[in-house]
Amino acid sequence: MPRRVTVLGATGSIGTSTLEVLARHPERYRVHALTAHRSREALLAQCRVHRPALAVLDAEGDAAWLRARLGEAGLATEVRAGVDALVEVAEADEVDTVMAAIVGAAGLLPTLAAVRAGKRVLLANKEALVMSGALFMDAVARHDATLLPIDSEHNAIYQCLPVEHRGGLARHGVTQLLLTASGGPFRGWTAADLVAVTPDQACAHPNWSMGRKISVDSASLMNKGLELIEACWLFDARPDQVQVVVHPQSVIHSMAAYSDGSVIAQLGNPDMRTPIAYGLAWPERIEAGVEALDLFQIARLDFEPADETAFPCLRLAREAMAVGGTAPAVLNAANEVAVEAFLDGRLGFTGIGELVARVRDARPVEAARDLETVLAADALARQAAHDWLARQ
Ligand code: NAD
Ligand code: MG
Repeated sequence: MPRRVTVLGATGSIGTSTLEVLARHPERYRVHALTAHRSREALLAQCRVHRPALAVLDAEGDAAWLRARLGEAGLATEVRAGVDALVEVAEADEVDTVMAAIVGAAGLLPTLAAVRAGKRVLLANKEALVMSGALFMDAVARHDATLLPIDSEHNAIYQCLPVEHRGGLARHGVTQLLLTASGGPFRGWTAADLVAVTPDQACAHPNWSMGRKISVDSASLMNKGLELIEACWLFDARPDQVQVVVHPQSVIHSMAAYSDGSVIAQLGNPDMRTPIAYGLAWPERIEAGVEALDLFQIARLDFEPADETAFPCLRLAREAMAVGGTAPAVLNAANEVAVEAFLDGRLGFTGIGELVARVRDARPVEAARDLETVLAADALARQAAHDWLARQ
């Protein structure tokens, strides 16, 4: 029987790569549901090809439009709207695997619903885990979900660790996780150089083609900060056990260092279809359409430390993880507002780190007791961020 897959955020960069991998293996996978925010044309095109049982858009107006087009095309896909529908397609009984590829906090509820329904959850939506940390990992354990990291670095570390790696790194002889970073388009730039950079410059990543939000995060190194937090939760690591290593070629996707001196790395061309195929097929391997790595063409691999003076977001994230509680949720919310303002031309690039620091200083940290506390911290941090922007 083919596995049934829901793709949350199907029209995005990760979503389309996921559908490419799924289409290579029709005997293994069937698409159950595809979801998008507003991209109704893109979702229509995907429905024509993948013929899901369900499609979900945010607004009822867009859903009605899609329903009409699918009807004209004689397709039986049912169309729904809103967050409840996202949750439903994430937890549906028919579904084995959920690709969590919505960007930002909007992905938290459906991703958590998939976890609570005990699905195989392929986690690209790092913001969901950053926000809810312990609550998310507790739900994974309690509901016996299978959580497979899709973020290339975490997927690499997963591949470099022993199969059973719960209960702290030290128990398994792991001394450090080496989280590689490309350094983004502004590697080597000073804080003064960064003041006038534009959204298009920030989104022109040297090695990866991605959605605009994560592209800006990669340029500010907030992405690496969010990934540091993500690694702590996924692998039971303390922040000081995760070292960021700038590696401009993006060929080593991350490493695990062991007490006997061994360092195990995972290498490959920078193509998200590799971690996506790994997550879909684990513990087996399937063809992903990715070109074989040509080491002679790459010829050299370079490494350098990250510059946390020009790129303060990495430090802000590490500090938020050390503080714990709702601090990572506040960091994430402030960053989402800051990135949106930067992309809209309302905030300069260096304003991103400044805004995140201001919101952090303005918001109290609470214990992340339950989801309501986390969602309230997220909402209040967004409000504080908008207030600060309005005063500029
Ligand atoms: P993207 O912007 O290309 O796509 C986002 C998808 O989510 C789209 O389908 C969009 O319609 C949907 N979406 C956006 N806002 C939504 C909302 N409010 N409600 C419901 N759906 C919404 O983003 P992406 O680059 O594919 O990234 C997706 C996630 O994967 C992010 O969390 C990102 O950090 C993570 N990730 C991406 C990459 C990459 O290479 N693109 C790598 C690692 C991790
Ligand atoms: Mg990554």
